[in-house]
Amino acid sequence: MRQHICTCLLCGGQNHLSFEEPYPQFGQQLVRFCRHCGKDTPQTMTMTRKIAAELRKKKAEEDLKQSIVSYCQKYGFTCRFLYESVIITTPVSSWQFPYHAPRKTLRHESTVKINFATGDYAKTHEQFSNRKMTCEEVIDYIAAHDEWRQREAEKHVAEESKTDPA
Ligand SMILES: [Zn+2]
Repeated sequence: MRQHICTCLLCGGQNHLSFEEPYPQFGQQLVRFCRHCGKDTPQTMTMTRKIAAELRKKKAEEDLKQSIVSYCQKYGFTCRFLYESVIITTPVSSWQFPYHAPRKTLRHESTVKINFATGDYAKTHEQFSNRKMTCEEVIDYIAAHDEWRQREAEKHVAEESKTDPA
């Protein structure tokens, strides 16, 4: 349950109201009992410091996500957000890292599905751990890795055609 101070749109008076889930959003019109009017009236949540802080936090989160989406688009990568992580998919690979923490651990989806040392199922491996990097630097790293992989693949093709007797 949450308590909110709400302003009556008829009389302008304030009411302390309780809400159950789903909780109302700031700006939403709510029909509740106004103690000044003595009846149900349309009301809106009053801006308080707590609500202002919540809105700022929500805005900062949206801005951060949008900046990652835009930076991925620059390279033609797609991304999706899962809990505290972002999953980035490039034409040749998939990656995951926590996007809030200043120190990032980057996981790379392995093409080899088994860890040879342990015999365990190895879906991902760590590319690096707990490294202080911005999200942009991590995405640059992914792009550089893709480029390297692309060059390696081309080198391989070139070597094969060299040894091809035909
Ligand atoms: Zn009222």
